[in-house]
Amino acid sequence: MINVNPQRPDFEKLAKSERVFADVGTDLVGHGPVIAVTPVADGRPGAYDENVAKTWRMAEKVYDLLTSNVFLPDGSPVRVVVAPEIVYGARTGAIAQAYYATQGVCANIWVSRSWCYSDELMSACQGIGSSEWQQAAWGLNQTDRPGAVWLKAFCAAMDEKKRPIFSVYSPDLEDEEGPLCAYVAARLLRFARCAAAVGYMRGKNYLSIGGVAMGIIGSDVRRNALLDYFGVGSASFDMSGINTRLNAGFYDAEEVARAVKWMKDHFRMDFGSGKRPRTPDDLLETCCKMTVIVRDLMRGNASLAKRSVEWVDGFKHVEWAQGYNAVGAGTQGQRQWTDGHPNFDVTESILNSMFDWNGFRAPMPVATENDSKNGIGMIAAFLLSGGMSQMFADIRTNWTCESIEKATGCNVSAICPRGIIDKRNSGAAALEYAIDLYDVCGLPKTAPVSDVVNKLRRSPEAREKALAAISKAVTYMGAALTYFPGDGLSSHFRSPGGLPMTAYRYNVVGDRFTCSVVEGETVDLPEPVADAISKRTDPTWPETAWTPRGMTSFDYMRRIGPNHDANCLGLIGADFITLNSMLRIPVDMHNVPDGDIFRPTMWDRFGGDDFKACDFLGPVYG
Ligand code: MN
Repeated sequence: MINVNPQRPDFEKLAKSERVFADVGTDLVGHGPVIAVTPVADGRPGAYDENVAKTWRMAEKVYDLLTSNVFLPDGSPVRVVVAPEIVYGARTGAIAQAYYATQGVCANIWVSRSWCYSDELMSACQGIGSSEWQQAAWGLNQTDRPGAVWLKAFCAAMDEKKRPIFSVYSPDLEDEEGPLCAYVAARLLRFARCAAAVGYMRGKNYLSIGGVAMGIIGSDVRRNALLDYFGVGSASFDMSGINTRLNAGFYDAEEVARAVKWMKDHFRMDFGSGKRPRTPDDLLETCCKMTVIVRDLMRGNASLAKRSVEWVDGFKHVEWAQGYNAVGAGTQGQRQWTDGHPNFDVTESILNSMFDWNGFRAPMPVATENDSKNGIGMIAAFLLSGGMSQMFADIRTNWTCESIEKATGCNVSAICPRGIIDKRNSGAAALEYAIDLYDVCGLPKTAPVSDVVNKLRRSPEAREKALAAISKAVTYMGAALTYFPGDGLSSHFRSPGGLPMTAYRYNVVGDRFTCSVVEGETVDLPEPVADAISKRTDPTWPETAWTPRGMTSFDYMRRIGPNHDANCLGLIGADFITLNSMLRIPVDMHNVPDGDIFRPTMWDRFGGDDFKACDFLGPVYG
């Protein structure tokens, strides 16, 4: 049969059409993560009939688990699709794969309670048309038809075909009548969270605003490496374009006015003393314009395309309104911009946060100094955490208890026996790190960070409380003119202590990525100590003291790569390790307990050597 396109486009009409800003319902366009659940069973008559109902029950439990626990940044549950029928051979497998292809699947979880013809099911995933999919298999631990036999045979077949697969198997016998056992549920969720993050970022962009700041290699955007390892494209926008938009008035003036009022209503402002390059009103307004412009560049803005005013040549506004479909961005700032213009501290602190003049929303990760290698980590952590804001940091000083006592006379060995890292960024950080969000949300510090984000999404009271606490804790301060001659407004605060916090950093060695991820917590230093440390550097900057778990702060300082890391509220180290194995990026330093490490079975074939497994496989999209 000849495949005739049933809806031949009306080319006549298209040829005469005017371009518009297409409303697609979301600010980011492209793949959404879709996870498939594939029930498999022994196809032999009798065996099949005995297994069919119970196998579907397994699929149902996985479906319910994922859709009620894995969330996208907009708060919607991850989309899960299920094979049209139980897969028991080559043809039923192909039917499942054909269906998944129409659904944009990015990951697949195979479930079985019995022996199946393992390698022959793989018609659905021989690697043709599914090489980018993340794969997992759950084999039920029970006795009548042991799922382990299939699971082992299937994972071996996948390994032989160089298709890494995560194996899920309960250490204890499972009770099929009851809910999923905790071990299996935790592993399935870790896989699904990480696979959803991988699926979400693929095909989106990192927007590099400016180039390299002050010789910082992190801000050298490695376009092919980003694409090969993360599936993330990149776009470049010279900072002179910000000036063009400022000068031409290419922003929504009504929104800028609301932004200025919101900033004034919510934050103390200290515009600094002495002779300043701009008046306070001009400074705040310009910083708000820059924020709106960077947001527009990242996500587009329909209101700019609809404007009736003719601008420049009369049609450029539709093109400019599109933006770059960027899931994250970086702003160079120093020095070509900041030597003469306000810095990007308002822009970074607001876009990285969950609140602005339009209300509560998903953060838009923006890396300071266009450090794209930190920026890509912020994008990953933002997705892994279910939409939490990320704190960009300068790794500024290692303070041992001895140094603190020498400098201040205070003995802090009971508070931070392993020392602290002073993580003040040079001017901007997500505002949520000014407060104790666990406390605001009424959650224990052991709760997953995604619970914190969900509480904020669902509870207007929690949001109101959080924003009130942020307003109280944050002061926007006129920039230190020695660093920023063009002025700026830094988001100054002091992070509360006792917050679980994961530090992470992507590095590039040659053309390859590696990742460091270290869990720890923030430290509440006695006020005289915190004040002394603040005065020694720059008191206008956001301040966070952090100590790693199970290692000294000096161990961290000694072994971390560059001058920046980024930080996520909560402990997401194990998720980061799983995510990196999905992307074939080796982890060069971590402090995650062995029992929490979850990687594809192929890693065991390499004796657990992360570097060898990643080296053997190469990047997913490369
Ligand atoms: Mn820096």
